[in-house]
Amino acid sequence: MTNEPNVGSEAGKPNLETAQPSGPIHIRVGQATDRGLRRQINEDSLIARTPVFAVADGMGGHEAGEVASRICVETFESSALFGASGETDAADVLEVLERANQQIRTQTDERAGTTVSGAVLVTESGAPYWLVFNVGDSRTYRLINGELAQITVDHSEVQELVDMGEITPAAALVHPRRHVVTRALGAGQPLDADFWLLPVTPGERMLICSDGLTNELSDADIRSILGRALDAPAACRDLVDAALRSGGRDNITVIVLDPTLDDVPHQEETMPRFEEDESLLNTLPRPVVQSGSSVVGSVETLASDEPSQSLTHQILGTEPTEEVES
Ligand code: MG
Repeated sequence: MTNEPNVGSEAGKPNLETAQPSGPIHIRVGQATDRGLRRQINEDSLIARTPVFAVADGMGGHEAGEVASRICVETFESSALFGASGETDAADVLEVLERANQQIRTQTDERAGTTVSGAVLVTESGAPYWLVFNVGDSRTYRLINGELAQITVDHSEVQELVDMGEITPAAALVHPRRHVVTRALGAGQPLDADFWLLPVTPGERMLICSDGLTNELSDADIRSILGRALDAPAACRDLVDAALRSGGRDNITVIVLDPTLDDVPHQEETMPRFEEDESLLNTLPRPVVQSGSSVVGSVETLASDEPSQSLTHQILGTEPTEEVES
């Protein structure tokens, strides 16, 4: 069973008037994942290998969430997206998501699920594009010309309340049900994924992250940190450190992508995206918290036999309804 992919109308058609890079694109990649300060295991997983970049946030409690997010990432790793000609489209990515959905349901007896958001580097009319996809409340952002844009739209209860005009985006950040997602892989619902197509633009900076980042930092904080970091790994480290200083209540996972033209000198690739804005920096929490689990540049897996600590994350539509952690 294959759904017709929905490609977001906002960026659904390649905009041929957008300046396209003339040479081969090189992607500088940063990645980091951290258990955080409250959770006993890290249930997030990531894949960051050209052309596939994605973050999965598992939920299910008692390590089931870790299994679900890992199956999702492994399904991408073994997929035909690697070695494809680049003519990948949303249907190809949807096929991988369908397979991951099925694998998670089978291997966890439908007791676990995972969000997934990310971007696949594809070719459209001979030009490079990001095929951004989302299921759940992990997010993909783009920093371009100093402006931070959230590309993906959360599949969450609070996003639905915002869309209906019942609460403000600011209220959503502190709403007691902000962790409840309305779509996930492995959750027993028909798979429903969203897609967007964006031209790859040298000088932009893409961010893919789990909600452990966005529940700790405002968009203004994220924009400030992304904008001043010298390179993609430094941006990841700084984002995770800031989320830990803010409380680190959940697992935190980030991927940062800097597309450049191959012939751009290294020095220019590592320029900050804009000058520091002190007023924004001053809004960041100051106390420094040590964390031994932050990793930049490799995938981290933390194992623990201890039971999950708090049950705060739900998947809607599963039977029986149970509170699970993400
Ligand atoms: Mg999470």
